[in-house]
Amino acid sequence: MKIEEIKKTTVIGAGAMGAQIAEVFSRIGGYEVGIVDISDELVKKGCRSIEDRLERFFVAKGKLTAEEKKIIVNRIKGSTDIEAASREADVVIEAVIEKMALKKEIFKKLDESAPSHAILASNTSYLNISEMASPTKRPDKVVGIHFFNPVSVMRLVEVVRGARTSNETVEVACDLAKKLGKEPVVCKDTSYGFLANRAYRALTDEAIQMVWERVASPEEIDKALKLGYNLPMGPLELIDMVGGWAIRASSEEDAMRELGPERGRLHPLVRAMVRAGYTKIYDYWKDALSRP
Ligand code: NAD
Repeated sequence: MKIEEIKKTTVIGAGAMGAQIAEVFSRIGGYEVGIVDISDELVKKGCRSIEDRLERFFVAKGKLTAEEKKIIVNRIKGSTDIEAASREADVVIEAVIEKMALKKEIFKKLDESAPSHAILASNTSYLNISEMASPTKRPDKVVGIHFFNPVSVMRLVEVVRGARTSNETVEVACDLAKKLGKEPVVCKDTSYGFLANRAYRALTDEAIQMVWERVASPEEIDKALKLGYNLPMGPLELIDMVGGWAIRASSEEDAMRELGPERGRLHPLVRAMVRAGYTKIYDYWKDALSRP
């Protein structure tokens, strides 16, 4: 398949990433997009977030007219039926929660329902593409297309090659990333977290440990890293913004398997925070950790 042949796309998962990917597929790619989640409510929530972002960042700033926004939104069709939504897709991208067992189930279903020419991609942040491809009969067409958050702002896309991913699939994935205005880098799936997240995780782990040791507040730690290394955002505020704690919590089992129990196990701070229902370390620090 060539990039010009892509007409229909499907996104599985209408959460933070799925909704943003669906939006760029429609807004920049001009593709028809099916977006799938497990309930009507979640599908509606995802579609609403697309409309809100288009209104706030594009229509309100004069970058799109109301009419153009309507066309972009109308190209995106929500559904809870993964089979029906992927039946005519040329490219499907999975963006469900970070858990290998669930992703494998989804790839198996997609392999049965999507046309035989379709590329099946995953937006996984860390997980192995070869393993996701294992329940399918088309491992040559399974690839990682890892967008960064916020999708319309961040230029990087990691194109992640599994053991059996074909050169043609990698090429189409790179062309798709470029068509959406992104800068692809290609890597193997044998690295947990691929390139960017693997290195960034090391930085974040130290920042979390410093909060745990009460060396300084999250604000101070982020300020030190921002000013000391000229980073636009500190690692703690960035994870707070992108929902990264939930990703760590849901993928603990996979992380332990990949990195061993020492490095893979959830940090006690993250476990305590997620258990208490917090999604932001800044809030958890203020309400709980900084107290005697
Ligand atoms: P999220 O929790 O916001 O969204 C996941 C969505 O998947 C939820 O709406 C959930 O209901 C849905 N879902 C769960 N099971 C499903 C199923 N069987 N069928 C259809 N939908 C299902 O998560 P997210 O932050 O959007 O992350 C999604 C993926 O993208 C993960 O693999 C994550 O690692 C990756 N990712 C996340 C970020 C980020 O900054 N948040 C960045 C890059 C990549």
